[in-house]
Amino acid sequence: MEISLLRSTTQLLVPSFSKPNRRFHAYKPLKLRCSVAGGPTVGSSKIEGGGTTVTADCVIVGGGISGLCIAQALVTKHPDAAPNLIVTEAKDRVGGNIITREENGFLWEEGPNSFQPSDPMLTMVVDSGLKDDLVLGDPNAPRFVLWNGKLRPVPSKLTDLPFFDLMSIGGKIRAGFGALGIRPSPPGREESVEEFVRRNLGDEVFERLIEPFCSGVYAGDPSKLSMKAAFGKVWKLEQNGGSIIGGTFKAIQERKKAPKAERDPRLPKPKGQTVGSFRKGLRMLPEAISARLGSKVKLSWKLSGITKLDSGGYNLTYETPDGVVSVQSKSVVMTVPSHVASSLLRPLSESAANALSKLYYPPVAAVSVSYPKESIRTECLIDGELKGFGQLHPRTQGVETLGTIYSSSLFPNRAPPGRVLLLNYIGGATNTGILSKSEGELVEAVDRDLRKMLIKPNSTDPLKLGVRVWPQAIPQFLVGHFDLLDTAKSSLTSSGYEGLFLGGNYVAGVALGRCVEGAYETSTEVNNFMSKYAYK
Ligand SMILES: Cc1cc2nc3c(=O)[nH]c(=O)nc-3n(C[C@H](O)[C@H](O)[C@H](O)COP(=O)(O)OP(=O)(O)OC[C@H]3O[C@@H](n4cnc5c(N)ncnc54)[C@H](O)[C@@H]3O)c2cc1C
Repeated sequence: MEISLLRSTTQLLVPSFSKPNRRFHAYKPLKLRCSVAGGPTVGSSKIEGGGTTVTADCVIVGGGISGLCIAQALVTKHPDAAPNLIVTEAKDRVGGNIITREENGFLWEEGPNSFQPSDPMLTMVVDSGLKDDLVLGDPNAPRFVLWNGKLRPVPSKLTDLPFFDLMSIGGKIRAGFGALGIRPSPPGREESVEEFVRRNLGDEVFERLIEPFCSGVYAGDPSKLSMKAAFGKVWKLEQNGGSIIGGTFKAIQERKKAPKAERDPRLPKPKGQTVGSFRKGLRMLPEAISARLGSKVKLSWKLSGITKLDSGGYNLTYETPDGVVSVQSKSVVMTVPSHVASSLLRPLSESAANALSKLYYPPVAAVSVSYPKESIRTECLIDGELKGFGQLHPRTQGVETLGTIYSSSLFPNRAPPGRVLLLNYIGGATNTGILSKSEGELVEAVDRDLRKMLIKPNSTDPLKLGVRVWPQAIPQFLVGHFDLLDTAKSSLTSSGYEGLFLGGNYVAGVALGRCVEGAYETSTEVNNFMSKYAYK
């Protein structure tokens, strides 16, 4: 039987709540000999002597937060762009880096621990039906930095600045003058985070605040991270206003002049600077989005090859539990890590693959342990409790652990009564040796460090909950990052691979909030492409 695969399958993959998209009349249906013998996938066709083929408007490769949010953004913001979309995930679960576990009254994270509740993130939360499950940390809870053996609070507002003891008076004065712009930026050269901060704000701000902050966000080396790529908002302040303070004033003035966009009344209103999660941990978000997408999400579908079709669009080959499946799609969004994208795209563009292969992901281990409440040192208690977001450890302070999140203080119901739950990150760009350590050795290293400042030295051994080693954890936005990304993207476009998009955290930014913002941006790009495609 000779049939058009496009016609035979599109209707079946179109969700019942959206109309079939009639705009795509320009798509040339593929004519293949096949018998519709029934197969593992709804809307699939078995090709005689071969695997199964399905068609789609858009295939999103990777079911981490980026891939799922791109799909949800397409469904909610651009429902006509790609009604027949699928998200394909190599593993048998969604979420990518997000892994929440629950056992014996403990609930802990083994990847990211929280997110900034920005409006795009809250929109995603509300659209996923999770508004009532959102939990926000106390905005007044302090964050600490270890300095000279003591945990010292980080100032959370301008009025705290004169009083906090993390920096000397000289260091504060240097930072204040520097922020006014006493040392201009070197022309024509991309600065590292270390160079930018030492020049603008002085050595103390760098060593006591920014260096540990780089560990907290990137597990990175600030002498190699790019200020422009890793902390673009602060970098832009100096570019726009001649100094950090000048840029801040200019930004405030511009914000006042700009017409006020009406805020979505459905969104919760977080108070102050805080972080968020969900009642049952971060995994609730990918799981809720996946449940909404239903059969559009294909688990255990590992992409093994991609080619361009002569008739337009792409052919993607998957290894699935039901054998090899081919998907023919008008557009493709790759949200897999850059090293995976590099291998998959090499047959299409050597130069895109080479650029992507240069991005670096250092290893990080997430070590969750619990102690009895009495194990916390008395000097670390506030009103008899361990309070705060957690603590960061500058590399100069003689501890291996990068930082510790006070998980049971930050969000409710994370540990049984009488216990504290601490999530520790260890490793990163300056300590790749963690890869040769056993789980037991990682717990020992964390416990040894915590007894130096937070846990009483004679306390009982910690209860080990979970140790997860991420051999390639977080993409580093190093000096030259944007050049490599531009090379990868422009190589694909100039070789004629239109409709093939790069997404994910190495493109949008590593924070979950940036992945969500990036998802809305990518969904707009897909929408623009599909509109052009329809009228070609
Ligand atoms: C230890 C750790 C702690 C972190 N802490 C925080 C934090 O507290 N707050 C914060 O905001 N951010 C944090 N981050 C960063 C944040 O978690 C990530 O940037 C974000 O989750 C990345 O999502 P993603 O979808 O872009 O990529 P991923 O989560 O990596 O998803 C990519 C997906 O692609 C799939 N895939 C790979 N190959 C294939 C293939 N061939 N075919 C199909 N699918 C494939 C993978 O299985 C994966 O599910 C942390 C990250 C780590 C590792």
